[in-house]
Amino acid sequence: MEDKALHILNSTFGYSEFRQYQQDIINQVISGKDAVVLMPTGGGKSLCYQIPAMAREGVGIIISPLIALMQDQVAALRQLGVKTAFLNSTLDAHSASEVEQQLLRGDLDMLYVAPERLMTARFLDLLERAPIALFAIDEAHCVSQWGHDFRPEYIQLSVLHERFPRIPRIALTATADEPTRKEIIQRLALENAELFVSGFDRPNICYRISQNQGNARDQLLRFILNEHENDAGIVYCLSRKKVEQTAEWLTSKGLTALPYHAGLSAPVRQQHQYRFLTEDSVIIVATIAFGMGIDKPDVRFVAHLNLPKSIEAYYQETGRAGRDGLPANAWMMYGLQDVIMLKQMMETSDADEAHKRVERHKLQSMLGFSELTTCRRQALLKYFDDHLEQPCGNCDTCLTPVETWDATVVAQKALSCVYKTNQRFGVTYLIDVLLGKDMARIKQFGHDQLSVYGIGKELDAKQWNSIYRQLIARNLLSVDIEGHGNLRLTEQCRAVLRGEETLHLRKETKQAKSAQRGRKVFNNVKDSDKALWEALRACRKALADESDVPPYVIFHDATLMEMVERQPQTHEQFSKMTGVGEKKLEAYADQFLEIIKQHIDTVARPSSGNDTMEETLQLLRSGMNVDAIATHRNLKATTIYGHLAKSIELGDIELQQVVDLSEKEIKTIQNAFLNFGDEDKKLKPVYEAFEGAFDYGLLQCVRASIDIPA
Ligand code: ADP
Ligand code: ZN
Repeated sequence: MEDKALHILNSTFGYSEFRQYQQDIINQVISGKDAVVLMPTGGGKSLCYQIPAMAREGVGIIISPLIALMQDQVAALRQLGVKTAFLNSTLDAHSASEVEQQLLRGDLDMLYVAPERLMTARFLDLLERAPIALFAIDEAHCVSQWGHDFRPEYIQLSVLHERFPRIPRIALTATADEPTRKEIIQRLALENAELFVSGFDRPNICYRISQNQGNARDQLLRFILNEHENDAGIVYCLSRKKVEQTAEWLTSKGLTALPYHAGLSAPVRQQHQYRFLTEDSVIIVATIAFGMGIDKPDVRFVAHLNLPKSIEAYYQETGRAGRDGLPANAWMMYGLQDVIMLKQMMETSDADEAHKRVERHKLQSMLGFSELTTCRRQALLKYFDDHLEQPCGNCDTCLTPVETWDATVVAQKALSCVYKTNQRFGVTYLIDVLLGKDMARIKQFGHDQLSVYGIGKELDAKQWNSIYRQLIARNLLSVDIEGHGNLRLTEQCRAVLRGEETLHLRKETKQAKSAQRGRKVFNNVKDSDKALWEALRACRKALADESDVPPYVIFHDATLMEMVERQPQTHEQFSKMTGVGEKKLEAYADQFLEIIKQHIDTVARPSSGNDTMEETLQLLRSGMNVDAIATHRNLKATTIYGHLAKSIELGDIELQQVVDLSEKEIKTIQNAFLNFGDEDKKLKPVYEAFEGAFDYGLLQCVRASIDIPA
């Protein structure tokens, strides 16, 4: 039995070994017993039911609430040669009845079904007549009435146990706080199932949170350009308006950024989601509504421009990055304004007091998390009752240790100022008083007579802002209930005010951000290998378009990475790579091997039949500029530029060795290519866009430096 599972893993999925837990879970289900599986996103839940479904007699019935996801999974399985179908509202009657016939004949390995379809009397009758291998209940947390993904039909799924007591069931989820876990077990009558809980850690995600010092947008752009230029990512904003503005801004900078929120029409949303899934480097700017049901494995970053409401939400949203296990970034920027806004939204909502208390507590935890000066991953895991022995080394506080300082006296000043002005003012006013500003409003209230007036001149407004933010985050101050943003003292602040407790706050740094880079997908990749990477990506895209599936359904990034690293040259070598099973070997090996072969040929013989290019390079290295080389060789400057562009593309020389342009000019020109250029990145539109300011040779070289094959 174990051999059978392992054989399927190797030959169908192309993976060499099971991950922790997968093996046990799979054995449990193959042997006909029930299982409840809690595993983080990207942990590898799908195989836990797919392999038993294939190994056991009959059809595996997979219940999944998300139509888009269902279709994706079916497409991916078909690529692997697995007989799979789905039944949901998108099928017409004829196709649906065809699928039903296949089910009755046992002609399928797996059938994905929407819960509302499954629960119809007619379908349940049909199931009684069909050979069934197992029931898999995906996204099992949808049974929880308290969660935001609640699906009423999920509650009825306990019927399965009553009508098909002999057929094993496996329920899976990534949301696994204690109450939800209990609800799943109870509502689905899985008391006798074995529980498999794997840790919550997502080691490939680098967590980074920084303070918004008024330039969040620029910081975001810099982050994307520096670290994720050709990557897919999601940017979360709180409001629709901010979504629109941010998408526009990123687009104006030459990136492909699409808005996604409930105010857009369904076709527009669908189209944006479709492009996100099928194109290579699309950024979705969205309200939190986006993400559920997106199974894209190669989302390389998730950026938050606002603070999420809870650590659960943060974990879930950031969890959409890096499902494929390759390095990914969870990047967040937040400021005092966010805190005040969220607190006000919470206080003024219609929820009852008990509910508000819970929400307040969750937000407070999220704030505490944001202000941490110790390892974020350790804190995150602890929040979910998980444990990490050592600081992780892959979060901002680990990468760039935060400096703290004794802020007791300063905090006392800030708190006194709140107290002396009768807890009736917001941050801006309080700071004006501390700084001793000469303002009519202050005089009118007589606050220029207070002892706190002007006692804070040792710091500037920005620094005071940071201090107030941290005091709120530590719950030493609260934001008023009426929603005017007034700060009030809390019970906790007394000890600090009385000097019984010292307070260490984080030292805000202005520029240390660049030191905080996470691990990159490409760590030690030579420039010439980047060309190969891009060629492989282009090939994958073409194949994906041909079959009308997202690129990752053909091969994951991890597999392409392996092709770059190992450069296989035979079918035998190709078959050894992760994610290459029998079917894909047969379908795709030739195309990819051909590209690798071409690459090896060019790199191994850079001047093959091309000594003239080599000569140009040598002259350049000896210090000549383009005109000098042209004169010396009695060739046209355009020819020389042609040689150099080719060398840049191959990674033999750097762009800066050839052209005398600033970083900024280079960036602008590159963006222009990405912006105006068609598929081929033609020179002319860009030449014209700059009104001839840069000549063709220059543009050609800059174009060659873009990480996409021209
Ligand atoms: P989840 O549903 O838990 O979010 P998936 O089932 O989508 O996760 O798996 C996440 C990724 O890990 C997928 O790309 C999957 O192909 C890959 N994967 C799963 N199990 C293995 C394994 N044993 N070896 C290699 N890759 C695996
Ligand atoms: Zn850490």
